[in-house]
Amino acid sequence: MIAENIASLRQEIRETALRCGRDPDGILLVAVSKTFGAGEIAESLQAGVFDFGENYVQEFQQKRAAFGDPRLRWHFIGHLQTNKVRVLVGSVHLIHSLDSLRLAEEIHKRAGAAGVSTVDVLVEVHTTDEATKYGVPPEATVALVREAARFERVRICGLMTMGPFSDDPEDSRPSFRLVRELREAIAAEGIPGVSMEHLSMGMTHDYGVAIEEGATILRIGTAIFGRRRKREP
Ligand SMILES: *Cc1c(COP(=O)(O)O)cnc(C)c1O
Repeated sequence: MIAENIASLRQEIRETALRCGRDPDGILLVAVSKTFGAGEIAESLQAGVFDFGENYVQEFQQKRAAFGDPRLRWHFIGHLQTNKVRVLVGSVHLIHSLDSLRLAEEIHKRAGAAGVSTVDVLVEVHTTDEATKYGVPPEATVALVREAARFERVRICGLMTMGPFSDDPEDSRPSFRLVRELREAIAAEGIPGVSMEHLSMGMTHDYGVAIEEGATILRIGTAIFGRRRKREP
């Protein structure tokens, strides 16, 4: 089932990309495996998916320990507290949720202590008016990127956002567009050590709109693994 889901998702991503004149190979699919276990991850690996997204540090730690496949890349996509940074440094491929200078400083320090030269991060932008979501406000994003860039072990590779809770994917378009424009503005500044290579946006219900608005990383759970049965911690 998972293999079929991945195949049809890839097909859909490909068609959407081509329809809006984009190269499908420039779009990375991250399988959001939170609440799912070893069996589902193994099936995805067989289908050729090596990028997995996790929201919770403890759950990430357990799964990472269970899989030794060196092709596997873990993405941390949940809210990150400074006291959990140590676990991620050196073991995660990309942190999607940098949202404060304090967190950047902690990543820099922990990387230094662990002998890790750089940690790749995306700055999470809070683009809706929902109080429940994390991220830096759009108007504070450029300043955070500038300041966080001074920590040389923190390598900023782009921006991440989530659309509003809604069934209508069009409701996500203003969020995605805003982040795309921020990315262009930051790229134009040419801040040393900062790349704006990635835009991480688009989930199961709104990835089509995200592709249209320039996403380079899609974070998709439900369309691959089905509905999450377990309650999220
Ligand atoms: C759970 C989650 C996703 C995946 O959501 P689906 O709707 O299941 O595709 C993507 N991004 C973040 C930050 C998430 O927490």
